[in-house]
Amino acid sequence: MRLDLLLARAAQRLLDAGSPSARLDAEVLLCHVLGVDRTWLYTWGDREADAEAEARFEALLAEREAGHPVAHLTGEREFWGLRFATSAATLIPRPDTETLVEAALAVAGESGRLLDLGTGTGAVALAFASERPGWRVTGVDLRAEAVALARGNAARLAIDSARFFVSDWFAAVEDNGGERFELIVSNPPYIADDDPHLARGDVRFEPRSALVAADEGMADLRHLVVEALAYLTPDGWLMLEHGAGQAAAVRAALSEAGYREVDSRRDLGGHERVSLG
Ligand code: GLN
Repeated sequence: MRLDLLLARAAQRLLDAGSPSARLDAEVLLCHVLGVDRTWLYTWGDREADAEAEARFEALLAEREAGHPVAHLTGEREFWGLRFATSAATLIPRPDTETLVEAALAVAGESGRLLDLGTGTGAVALAFASERPGWRVTGVDLRAEAVALARGNAARLAIDSARFFVSDWFAAVEDNGGERFELIVSNPPYIADDDPHLARGDVRFEPRSALVAADEGMADLRHLVVEALAYLTPDGWLMLEHGAGQAAAVRAALSEAGYREVDSRRDLGGHERVSLG
């Protein structure tokens, strides 16, 4: 079948299956199968797909129809214009989280130390490191699979200013002698366990440990606000991603703990997504 026709049919199928990004999903999956980029696909849409490629595309479409995230099917996702390897062991990087990278870059001079807690694929730490080569970047995660993935991403992106460790929040930093950081950032779990959002879309296939927190989703956010004080330099910044409705509570926690210049930043959807102090 012609590529453009194959694509149109696939997009319709994914739309019927309820994907919110059917056309894009179909394009990304077909690009993955053919080993080409989307520009190529638009240029050469009148070419015929060979039978082998068509069969592989069909297999991926069936998985996508069953709800599997595109990033799990291709094994990668773009974030901050960089390509990150993904796996089912971590959260898939999201555009919303670029707000956290932007907020960090806005206060970061030429050099310093940044700590990223719950780094997952390493997306936040490595996006920051790609923009600030003079900083020493540390990413930690509770899961060894995540740390291995983040290290692999650092190698793949040829970023050697970032290192990654297994750690339960600050535990490994404490064991290393309690180093201090000019910037501590995190995209922790912050969804309440009864949130209906957890029953729809990609989140169904992501680790709950990366998504769900106790206390209506506030438990880890509150924990980090208090704990980070011992690891920040006197003029350092803590920056936390959170849910759209949690900004006021996170700002209150920051103010109560003694942070100054407490504020929030909005994502591209206009939601308060990151709070800092
Ligand atoms: N923003 C993500 C979502 O709503 C959740 C990310 C997180 O819990 N840290 O799917």
